[in-house]
Amino acid sequence: MNLEEYRGVWVFIEQQEGQIIDVGLELLGAGRDLADKLEVDLCGVLLGHNVKDSAKELFAYGADKVYVIDDPVLEKYRTETHMTAVGDLVRKYKPEIFIYGATSNGKDLASAVATEVMTGLTADTTLLDVNVEKRLFEASRPAFGGNIMATILCKKHRPQMATVRPKVMPKPEPDHTRKGEIIEEKISIKEEDLRTKVLEIVRDMNKAVNLEDADVIVAAGKGIKDEKGFAMVKELADVLNATVGASRDLVEAGLCGHDHQVGQTGLTVTPKIYFAIGISGAVQHVVGMQNSEMIIAINNDPEAAIFNAAHYGIVADAFEIVPMLTEEFRKALK
Ligand code: FAD
Repeated sequence: MNLEEYRGVWVFIEQQEGQIIDVGLELLGAGRDLADKLEVDLCGVLLGHNVKDSAKELFAYGADKVYVIDDPVLEKYRTETHMTAVGDLVRKYKPEIFIYGATSNGKDLASAVATEVMTGLTADTTLLDVNVEKRLFEASRPAFGGNIMATILCKKHRPQMATVRPKVMPKPEPDHTRKGEIIEEKISIKEEDLRTKVLEIVRDMNKAVNLEDADVIVAAGKGIKDEKGFAMVKELADVLNATVGASRDLVEAGLCGHDHQVGQTGLTVTPKIYFAIGISGAVQHVVGMQNSEMIIAINNDPEAAIFNAAHYGIVADAFEIVPMLTEEFRKALK
């Protein structure tokens, strides 16, 4: 492999029912920084059906070029179609760095493309940088239970690829005066060649929790002890019109589902306000909420690590303070 032939930073732009989802725009912000350091173009890759018009929006978020394949066969995500389309683009245009959102589809696609074009992939990264002199992509992620950050390099293969969790990188402010180039390509696969058909998409109606988009999260940990404690936290959340989050230990205690879990093996969240009630502040929890705009921790142990991450700390028994807060907020928000 001649590494010198590979130039440019690419971002996979995921869309759902024609709508570009935020993580692609967040990655354009991070990709812009890498592309500027390497003095190369930042390119988006947009696949789907009737998506071409959305491509222009990507210039406002920092893309110089957008590779678009608009074909009915790409309307719904399938590993087979998307891997073939992206694999063909990579072989033809040879990017040196390629980043994807660590969504279900993004993770599936990135790992399939890695095997298709025989390169490496760093999953679930939270920090991206580049060694300009060596043109080496430095993709970092928590390792060994979150105790260290590991920076992973892909020295011998191209493109250098990573998935990045949604909400970790800030979405850039759009600049609608920016212009760019749309490059249209075709897919080499036909519907009749495909082994997988999407017959229907059924939404999981039980998944009423949307932590990632919540402005206010009231999260509970093992300190709230039982069902009664959890009901108390839910009441505060209701008064604040907030979403309920949880530590892993609370999920494992069976008090709520995994879709409430914040942290390394749960979700990364960035609300305006995050209440951490009876949560000790283990690093695996903190990595999932540390970028919240305001963190308010309630814990009866003044030495609890959560206070290191918090903007406001209340050293108190949750069973005393939470009902008081609920009543005060109820009055204030009436
Ligand atoms: P505890 O650590 O038991 O803390 C309870 C806290 O409540 C204590 O600080 C205590 O002082 C306080 N408390 C007790 N009583 C009261 C009271 N009456 N009023 C106020 N405060 C009180 N954890 C996650 O959360 N998310 C993850 O995604 C995650 N992923 C992990 C991945 C790996 C590979 C590993 C090894 C661990 C992971 N963990 C994760 C687990 C993590 O290490 C901690 O065990 C967990 O976060 C602790 O949960 P907790 O804070 O609710 O419980």
